[in-house]
Amino acid sequence: MEVHFLPQAHLSQFLQVLADHARVVVPVKVGKGQYKFRDLNEVSTEDVALEYLRTMVPPKKYFFPPEEVLYRYSTETGYEEPVLEDEPPILFGLHPCDLHGIRVTDTFFGDRYQDRHYLRRREQSRIIGLGCMPDEKCFCQSNRTDHIEDIYDLFLWEVEEGYLTLVRTPAGHEMLHWQRDLFSFASREHINQHQAYLERRREAFTRQMPTSDLPDLLRFEQDSPAWKDLGNSCFACGACSMVCPTCTCFNVYDKTDLSGESGERVRRWDSCLFRDFTRIAGEEHTRPERSDRVSNRYYHKEQGFVEQFGMPSCVGCGRCIDSCIAKIDITQVFAKVRSSCGR
Ligand code: SF4
Ligand code: SF4
Repeated sequence: MEVHFLPQAHLSQFLQVLADHARVVVPVKVGKGQYKFRDLNEVSTEDVALEYLRTMVPPKKYFFPPEEVLYRYSTETGYEEPVLEDEPPILFGLHPCDLHGIRVTDTFFGDRYQDRHYLRRREQSRIIGLGCMPDEKCFCQSNRTDHIEDIYDLFLWEVEEGYLTLVRTPAGHEMLHWQRDLFSFASREHINQHQAYLERRREAFTRQMPTSDLPDLLRFEQDSPAWKDLGNSCFACGACSMVCPTCTCFNVYDKTDLSGESGERVRRWDSCLFRDFTRIAGEEHTRPERSDRVSNRYYHKEQGFVEQFGMPSCVGCGRCIDSCIAKIDITQVFAKVRSSCGR
C-alpha cells in the first residue's frame, strides 16, 4: 500500500480536482450539530465539514435509495429495468463505522440473493475515508469497527498540517494521480504523528458496549422482561432504523395504470418496527406487539446477523441514540437484558 501526505493547504484543491472528474459527495453542516451528505457542486469546498462525526442519514442511501423503481413493464414494450439515472459518486469523508456499515450492506445485498440494483451502484462508486475522534455517543471500538482495512479507495488520517493518505486500490491511485503534485510521500515523522493520533483516539472512547456474550445472551433471553419494558417505552416510530447504516428492511409494491397494461415495481425503505411490516394475508401479524418488534431489531443486530454472516450488524455509529425520541440507547438495552437475567 502506498502512503502519501496531503498538506492541509491542498485539500480544497484536491476536492476541486475530484469534482472536475466526477460527481463528489461531501459531509456539510445543515444545522446545530447536524450534518448531511451533499453533492459538492451544490456547495463550496469551504463548506466541507471535516469535523463532522455522523450525518443524519447514512451513506447507504447512495447504493440503496429510500425509493427506487426496480422495473417497468407494459404490454407493448415488455419488461425493462431502469438505467442508472444518477452519476455514480465519489463519496468523500466516510468514517470507519460507515465503511463497516457498507460492508454489512454489501454482505446483505451481495450474498445469496444478489441485488443487481445495489451492486451496480456500489461497483461504480469510489470511496475516500476520513479519520475521526469519537464523541460520547460513538462505541464502534466495542464492535471493532473503529478501524478499517478495506472498502475504501483512499483514506485520509489527520496529522500535523495535513493528512496521511493511504492508497488501497487502483481507483484510489487514479484519483491521487489526477493531480499528483498535491501530494508528497509520507515521512517517518508523519507516520509517527499518525500512530500518536491513533493512540489518543483509542483512549478517547468513553462509551463501551460489551459484545462478546451478546449472541448467546440474545439467543437465550428472548423472554426477558426487559423487552416488555422496552416495548412500553418505544413509540415504534422507526427513526432508529431509518438512520441506521446497516438496516435494510424494504417494502415492494406495484404501481399500475387502471387498464393494467403498464406499471412499475417500486422498492421503498421500511422498518421492522412498524406493525404493518409483518402484516400478512387475513390481517395476521407475526409480530403484533411492540416488544416483539423491538427485541427482533436488537436480536437481528447482534445475534441473527452474526449467526448468518459471522459479524454483528451494529457498527456503533450512535445515530439511533441521537435520533430516538424515547431516549432508547442501544448500549443500555443490552445492559438491561443482561441484568434482567442476573448476568
Ligand atoms: S427511534 Fe426510539 S422510539 Fe422510535 S422506533 Fe426506534 S427505539 Fe422506538
Ligand atoms: S444500531 Fe444504532 S449504533 Fe448500531 S449501526 Fe445502527 S444506528 Fe448505528
